[in-house]
Amino acid sequence: MRIAITGGKGGTGKSTVATALAMELAKRKKVLLLDLDVDCPDDNIILSINTKKVKNVETMIPKFDKNKCIKCGRCSQVCRENAIVCVMGKPPFLVPEQCTGCKACQIACPVGAISEEKQTIGKILSGKKGNMTLVSGEMKPGIEESSLIVNAVKKYVKEKEKHYDYIIIDTAAGTHCPVIAALLDVDLGIAVTEPTPLGNHDLALILELMKKLNVKSRVLLNRSNIATKKEIEKTIRRFKTKIVAEIPYSKKIQKAYSKGIPIKHKAIKKIARELKCRL
Ligand code: SF4
Ligand code: SF4
Repeated sequence: MRIAITGGKGGTGKSTVATALAMELAKRKKVLLLDLDVDCPDDNIILSINTKKVKNVETMIPKFDKNKCIKCGRCSQVCRENAIVCVMGKPPFLVPEQCTGCKACQIACPVGAISEEKQTIGKILSGKKGNMTLVSGEMKPGIEESSLIVNAVKKYVKEKEKHYDYIIIDTAAGTHCPVIAALLDVDLGIAVTEPTPLGNHDLALILELMKKLNVKSRVLLNRSNIATKKEIEKTIRRFKTKIVAEIPYSKKIQKAYSKGIPIKHKAIKKIARELKCRL
């Protein structure tokens, strides 16, 4: 079963919940935890797991043959990422960090002046703790398109997934491309939020996204005692979902988090129990 721990807003405790749930499930079952917050993966720190690089993530970038190029500018016109700069009378100039390797420029070039080169855009790391295997994607600084790393991690684990009872996916915050890539094909998405106006606003966005992707959604209310949850409940009714668990604000949890100790809370145990009935 694939379960994504997600959330429209950053800083709501998504990674804390993902790692705690993975630890709880790994007491009895085999768990594969994917850290797909590839801009700043930190599940290895929370879980104190030493990860090692298992693979580089590479994409194609165009290589221009200056002798063949007729300086028509067509490659720059078709590049949706604005990765090619063409100045009149000069050969094209590439900004590699912007390139997603889509090959549109290569197809569009009328004289076959574009061949392929590889660039490393990130890496995949892995480590183990008991019944749990952690696989993290990490994007190289300066690279723009993080969904390429998310897709590379998903491809890397595809054949390995069958050896695990649960796949827990810790997504990035927000509703942009890497989150969409992480949410595709999951059986359940648990949105972690908090009862604040911004938390409620971003909860509506992530629930809307999961509805569009046809992903069953549930909500975990973190720091549930810091404000009234009336507005959150309205949003939950609007999207016909429900709160699966609440974790109140507690100094003990904050201290454990700051020391890199996965949290232990009855709400996490409740979710782990209910996952057997698919919530
Ligand atoms: S491969 Fe795609 S993104 Fe990269 S430069 Fe060519 S058109 Fe732009
Ligand atoms: S499309 Fe081909 S020929 Fe035209 S500027 Fe680009 S590389 Fe040169």
